[in-house]
Amino acid sequence: MKAKGRTVGKLRKKWVHSMIYEQTGFKLTGNRLWLSKIGELRIELSRPVPGTIKQIVVKHTPAHKLFVAIISETPDTPEPTAGTRAVGIDLNLENFSTDTDGVVFPHPHNVRKAAKRLRRAQRKLSRAVDGSRNRRKQRVRVARIHEQVENRRNDFLHKWSRYYVDRYDYIALEHLNIKPMIESLDAKLRGRSKSILDAAWYKAREFIQYKAANAGTYVHLVDPAYTTQDCFLCGHREKKDLAQRTHSCPVCGYTVPRDLNAAQNILKRAAVGWGTPESTLVEIGTATPPSPAGQVPVNEARISRL
Ligand SMILES: [Zn+2]
Repeated sequence: MKAKGRTVGKLRKKWVHSMIYEQTGFKLTGNRLWLSKIGELRIELSRPVPGTIKQIVVKHTPAHKLFVAIISETPDTPEPTAGTRAVGIDLNLENFSTDTDGVVFPHPHNVRKAAKRLRRAQRKLSRAVDGSRNRRKQRVRVARIHEQVENRRNDFLHKWSRYYVDRYDYIALEHLNIKPMIESLDAKLRGRSKSILDAAWYKAREFIQYKAANAGTYVHLVDPAYTTQDCFLCGHREKKDLAQRTHSCPVCGYTVPRDLNAAQNILKRAAVGWGTPESTLVEIGTATPPSPAGQVPVNEARISRL
């Protein structure tokens, strides 16, 4: 104990390179992190912190920046066991989904057809004279086709999610889709198609999570950034335009369909989180002056310079 006390004392005299907070001495509220002995800091989170925070490490980099590593635990993350059937699924534009086993679900044709009819009916409705009998009738027609689109989509999504939950113990998906959208379609169609797809993807996750919860299948939602651009094999990142349907890595030569590479990245990201606490690295942008009441091992001048 004495030796430990001396070390701390020594650290206090010199510049503190890192500080570790175990279980207590911190409070994270939005983008404000309160640390005992330092005070309140405004931080920029690189992504939301999953689970419960177990440990916070504050590090001073040679470039005079402060980094905060937030170690959190997600208790419901299961350990991978031998024989676990795992799959990564990429939801995309070309097809509805592509998975790591190479299974592709095309966009359901009957939903597309009904959606097209719906758009036509909606246009007709907008042209109908206000308060006319024709407008009333057209409104009912639009509602009926709308319902048909929903029913057909739900039907497809039930089969799709059932397929995965029945076959796999572990399913990795992106937690939301921020991929560049539908540049191959003309500008007028783009917004509408995107919202239709967004709704379908959102529902797809809901359906799969709901079914998985009942079947004891674990669904892992991963960070969607760069899953298309990164090479699964070597990690090299290169921008692709939407017309580029093949991933062909200029560094390692790995060549597979674009969406398969994305699905593999999704599964890889999920696998990295298996059984290990998640770590979120955040950079402190600006920091408010440390509270004068507390002990201040990090001198104020340095903090305010950050
Ligand atoms: Zn590569």
